[in-house]
Amino acid sequence: MIPLPVINSIDDVVAHRLCCGCGACAAISPGRLEMIDDVEHGRRPRPRHGACAPGKGSEAMRVCPGIAVEHTFDERHPGLIGALRREWGPVLEVWEGHAADPEIRHEASSGGAATALALAGIETAGMHGVLHIRARRDAPLLNETVLSTSRREVVEAVGSRYAPASPCDGLGLVERAPAPCVFIGKPCDVAAVQRALPVRPALRGRIGVTIAVFCAGTPTTRATLNLLERIGVDDPRDVVDVRYRGRGWPGRLAVRVRTERGTETRSLPYEETWGALTGGKQWRCQVCADHTGELADIAVGDPWHRPISKGEPGRSIILVRTERGRQVLRRAVRDGYLAVERVDPANLTRSQPDLLRTRGATWGRLLACRVLGVPVPRYRGFPMFRTWLTKLSVRERLRSLAGTVKRIHRRGLRERAVVVESPVIAALPPEHRETPTRREAA
Ligand SMILES: Cc1cc2nc3c(=O)[nH]c(=O)nc-3n(C[C@H](O)[C@H](O)[C@H](O)COP(=O)(O)OP(=O)(O)OC[C@H]3O[C@@H](n4cnc5c(N)ncnc54)[C@H](O)[C@@H]3O)c2cc1C
Ligand code: SF4
Ligand code: SF4
Repeated sequence: MIPLPVINSIDDVVAHRLCCGCGACAAISPGRLEMIDDVEHGRRPRPRHGACAPGKGSEAMRVCPGIAVEHTFDERHPGLIGALRREWGPVLEVWEGHAADPEIRHEASSGGAATALALAGIETAGMHGVLHIRARRDAPLLNETVLSTSRREVVEAVGSRYAPASPCDGLGLVERAPAPCVFIGKPCDVAAVQRALPVRPALRGRIGVTIAVFCAGTPTTRATLNLLERIGVDDPRDVVDVRYRGRGWPGRLAVRVRTERGTETRSLPYEETWGALTGGKQWRCQVCADHTGELADIAVGDPWHRPISKGEPGRSIILVRTERGRQVLRRAVRDGYLAVERVDPANLTRSQPDLLRTRGATWGRLLACRVLGVPVPRYRGFPMFRTWLTKLSVRERLRSLAGTVKRIHRRGLRERAVVVESPVIAALPPEHRETPTRREAA
């Protein structure tokens, strides 16, 4: 066994590729850290000019889900669906459905459940806003975090962005909000929120509900740039707008590009888009044990358990994971925001066979990393071994070990990564921006 390097600071988390880019450390230590975009790695924290990175025991390190993710739910809760606990975390109810508003349903990634739940939160449940991400208006290949407080703002952020995003860098906005807020993010983003609660008690009363989107992994900006090349966009500065999917289910990639004659839209089917992006995921995702938001109140994804007919409107699979999630879902249905039906819990397993195998493979990857001295996150309450043993073929099991050994050498994972801000994807000229950015409007 090769000794593991010690992770002593946020710099070490980043350098050893444990960072998933959630942004929580920057929200907790805004005076010392800022988030930057690196094309090859994703959004990463960087010490501000003259500051040093927070070290061991600091609040920034304590909230970091890159190094540790832990379950704290009550294992004896009588409502837990036993058949799902080991591989999918705590689940109280499984539903399928969609936003009642047909426009949201059409624009959304799946069935618009995340957006509909968020809207219900601010319009009828007394929540102040929704902390989530959207495309940057001035640099459409990148994302920014917003606290949306109106219907228009919430709906503007609809759709999956298969690109680095750090919704937790806005946690300070939630902490200072006059009432509880909705939080939407990936499973690691939600894990960061949970880790931040004991560190920042003021936040506890301000997180009204957490909604996680299922997540197979975050493709880097490089993956999007490669995709652009594939559709003939040589200069990323010509991109006016990127929709990764949606506007139908699962929808298509739609990239609006500036040309000599004005603008035109180039497009690819979802399957081709995701296939291309998935080869360029950040490393942390390869050793991720939670792809379905096990620490959230509600988690949403695609019910891929049956073929989708052409032109079929979108649907979401919705997992209620906590009592609070149950109340939020009930209210959203009662108030006419969501149309849902209770489904067989086995629909989850049938819908996401790849995520299940990935969870199993993670056990093999973690083992290979530990043996070769590559640091990995610490997990508590995420059983993986039996899934590795029973849900993966012998070949897949071997690949989880040997493939990781190869990756460690090929990607130089024992070396420290160097993160740099990427000028190539910087801002569009003002005349081509969609709408004023929040900063300009202010
Ligand atoms: C990187 C990534 C990988 C995914 N992998 C899978 C998968 O393997 N299987 C699966 O079933 N589903 C996956 N999803 C989720 C799926 O694409 C939909 O987002 C989900 O089903 C919610 O759909 P919806 O119609 O309810 O959401 P919508 O109503 O369209 O709302 C989406 C919400 O998610 C937020 N959001 C978008 N992109 C990001 C991001 N990168 N980080 C944080 N928040 C974001 C938006 O701000 C918005 O509030 C993935 C999503 C992402 C972002
Ligand atoms: S995972 Fe989140 S909290 Fe940890 S270093 Fe990265 S951005 Fe900061
Ligand atoms: S795969 Fe895991 S670590 Fe990677 S972005 Fe998704 S939730 Fe975060």
